[in-house]
Amino acid sequence: MIEVEGLCKSFGTLEVVKNVNLTVRKGEIYSIIGPSGSGKSTLLRTLIHLEKASSGSIRIEGKEILNENGTPVHESKIRQRCRKLGMVFQNFNLFPHMTALENVIEGPLTVLKVSKAEALKKGEALLAKVGLADQKDQYPCTLSGGQKQRVAIARAMAMEPDIMLFDEPTSALDPELIGEVLSVIKKLASEHMTMIVVTHEMGFAREVSDQIVFMDEGCILEKASPDKLFNNPDHPRIKTFLEKMI
Ligand code: ADP
Ligand code: MG
Repeated sequence: MIEVEGLCKSFGTLEVVKNVNLTVRKGEIYSIIGPSGSGKSTLLRTLIHLEKASSGSIRIEGKEILNENGTPVHESKIRQRCRKLGMVFQNFNLFPHMTALENVIEGPLTVLKVSKAEALKKGEALLAKVGLADQKDQYPCTLSGGQKQRVAIARAMAMEPDIMLFDEPTSALDPELIGEVLSVIKKLASEHMTMIVVTHEMGFAREVSDQIVFMDEGCILEKASPDKLFNNPDHPRIKTFLEKMI
C-alpha cells in the first residue's frame, strides 16, 4: 500500500526526516511512537504530500508520488494518488462554519463529485458509525473534542481512502474523551483498514498494531512487533522513553 525508500525532508538546513524506509502492506496497522520533535508529523505530512519531500521515493499502491531519480510526477497525478490516503489531525481541522454532516459531505461533493443525495446518505451512515447520528446538524463549536475528532474521522472516511493516517488523534483531548476516539479507530482496525497512527497511547498501540516504529531525531531507530519493541527494544533510548511513558 505504501512504500517509502530513503525519504528525507529538511526545512532549510534543519533535517527533520532522515533516510526513512517503510513498507506498509494492505490491512496492516503501524503505530509510530517517539519523542516530540522527532519528525513523526512531518513524515505523515510528507506521505500525503502536505509537505514536499527533499529526496527519496514514495509509492502508494505501487504508483510513485515521489521518485528517486528526480523525474517530477505531475501534480494532478500526485493529488489523485494521495486521495487513497485519509488523514486525521491532532486538532481536528473541521470547517467551523459547517455542521457535522456538512463537514463530512464536503469532500465527496466537491472532489468526488457524487450527487447530494448520495453524499448525504453516505455521510449519515458514517456519522452513525462513529456514534454521532444524533449530532449531525451540530456545528463544531457545540461538540466536545471527542465528538469533533469522530466527525473528523467520518469526514476522512467519506473520501473512501484505502489508507488512514492519524497524527496524535487523541493528544488534544481530555482524558475521559480519549476512549471514544480510540474505540472508533479500533473499529476501523477490526475492519482491516490499513493505518499509520502516530500516538502516545502506548496501551492502544500495543493492542492494535502489527508493527511499532520508534522515531528519534528524524530516524527510525527500531521497527518491530509490539511485543518485541515494548518488552525488549534494541536501543537503550527506546527503553528510557518507554519507562517515562508508562
Ligand atoms: P513530531 O511530530 O515528532 O513532534 P514534527 O514533525 O512536528 O515532530 O517536527 C520535527 C521538527 O521539524 C521539529 O524540530 C519542528 O520544529 C520542525 N518543523 C516541523 N514543521 C516545520 C516547518 N513547517 N518549518 C520549519 N520547521 C518545522
Ligand atoms: Mg507531531
